[in-house]
Amino acid sequence: MDRLSALAGPPFDVAIVGGGIIGSGIARDAALRGLRVALLERADYGGGTTAGSTRLIHGGLRYLEMLDFALVRMDLTERETLLRIAPHLVKPLEFLLPFYNRGWLERSRLKAGLMLYDLLSGRHRKMPGHRMYSAAQTLRIEPALCRTGLQGAAGYWDAQVDSPERLAIENVLDARAHGAVTMNYAEVVRAASPTGPLDGLVVRDALHGAERELRARVIVNAAGPWFEGVARRLVPAAARGRIRTTKGIHLAADPLARRAVVLFSHTDGRLFFVIPWLGYSWIGTTDTDYAGDPADARATPDDARYLLHAASAFFPALAPDALHWSNAGVRSLVMRPGSESSVSRLHRIETDETRGLVSVLGGKITGYRAIAEQATAAVCRLLRHSAPCTTAERPLPGAAAGNNPPLASATFDAQVVRAVRHEQCVRLSDFFLRRTTLGFARDQGESHISEAVSVIQRELGWSAARADSEAAAYRRWIAGTRAFRIR
Ligand SMILES: Cc1cc2nc3c(=O)[nH]c(=O)nc-3n(C[C@H](O)[C@H](O)[C@H](O)COP(=O)(O)OP(=O)(O)OC[C@H]3O[C@@H](n4cnc5c(N)ncnc54)[C@H](O)[C@@H]3O)c2cc1C
Repeated sequence: MDRLSALAGPPFDVAIVGGGIIGSGIARDAALRGLRVALLERADYGGGTTAGSTRLIHGGLRYLEMLDFALVRMDLTERETLLRIAPHLVKPLEFLLPFYNRGWLERSRLKAGLMLYDLLSGRHRKMPGHRMYSAAQTLRIEPALCRTGLQGAAGYWDAQVDSPERLAIENVLDARAHGAVTMNYAEVVRAASPTGPLDGLVVRDALHGAERELRARVIVNAAGPWFEGVARRLVPAAARGRIRTTKGIHLAADPLARRAVVLFSHTDGRLFFVIPWLGYSWIGTTDTDYAGDPADARATPDDARYLLHAASAFFPALAPDALHWSNAGVRSLVMRPGSESSVSRLHRIETDETRGLVSVLGGKITGYRAIAEQATAAVCRLLRHSAPCTTAERPLPGAAAGNNPPLASATFDAQVVRAVRHEQCVRLSDFFLRRTTLGFARDQGESHISEAVSVIQRELGWSAARADSEAAAYRRWIAGTRAFRIR
């Protein structure tokens, strides 16, 4: 069967390239505004940078330091919105920022920063403001912290999303429920017409190789760190150097702390986190320039050594054998004109009216809904379509199902079947890493591989060879996450 046949027919109002959190959010917003939407994702939804993130829904104290007030304000507003529309995925999380050997002036600066953070959170925030702890209180809360030089700590609240991959998928599911055609493993290879307005795309089925054309009145480039490659596929003369790409990694370690702990590396002063996540301490992240294909980004032994060194200075019990596996993601940061070194996390939306192209540069998961709202508004302006955005009020589909115990306790087979039949799960890794969080268990889902493969094989009619190659590909993925090992 030709998977791409759903792309044929009359023009879509908008075709979105990239099914990360931002493209999925745009697909949902546009479908809810009554537009005819196509969403195209070369791999699986949420499997790009969205899966490589620290998984925080936060304004970001670090960005206050960079005086990025607009970003912090927007993200703190969006944090409250996500707690409201996705309470099954986004949860409040308490942070602890310990002070070590800091002068009075520095501590006052941090305290002022936290007061500003409370203020920017607005009057309607759901979570309490910051508070200060003595050294003794800090050690009672987190006994594994290093005692030498500890002066006390500040506590404050932000939020966490266990599975931003699932957040992306729920946006896709709601977009589909409102008429969008969404397709994973569908890669945009070029514009249908090499010159003039962008009135269509050539799409390749990444699983079977077939190509098809689709027609669309507006195209959105939401390809995250692949942005520039996609921009050139759409318009060969597209300007280069519009984004800067940097790699960040995380390590899943034995649990060290109950709260999220904010620390500063002794090597270079960079802020990093030790966060409770699915029974681990999730340690990260790094920030190094990266020029390769984002799909190939991995944690290297040097990356892991940097984080181990940084974290063990504060958690002396942390040893290399407590590190289980890693992940890596590539940020796409807007290159501001005139300042090559600018690394602001603030996104930018660009509209090319002549070609009918909307481009999304940069962004965070935290602000994805607002970014999608702005991008969809730009699409609506090009189409002269007027309809309000409703995504800030409308809960995501799982918000109701998340509180439904029978669904949560569905048998393993039933979960696989549901993922395949209703959630566009077409590969083994889709199930383990993005439809569920089983791939993040201590054995990374290894003990369930044959059971899951046999259900998907039955559902999708895989040959024995295809089933074997899916299992082998997933095992290779597991091995890749463990390849950072420090000897
Ligand atoms: C290490 C790290 C930590 C981070 N931590 C946080 C955090 O804690 N909180 C936070 O809010 N943000 C965080 N971020 C930022 C956040 O992860 C990203 O801003 C966000 O995930 C970007 O989403 P996106 O949809 O733009 O990109 P992506 O998720 O990368 O999606 C782009 C998609 O486009 C697809 N694509 C590419 N080319 C094509 C093509 N030709 N055809 C079809 N599809 C294509 C890709 O496969 C990909 O799925 C972090 C980022 C990194 C790297």
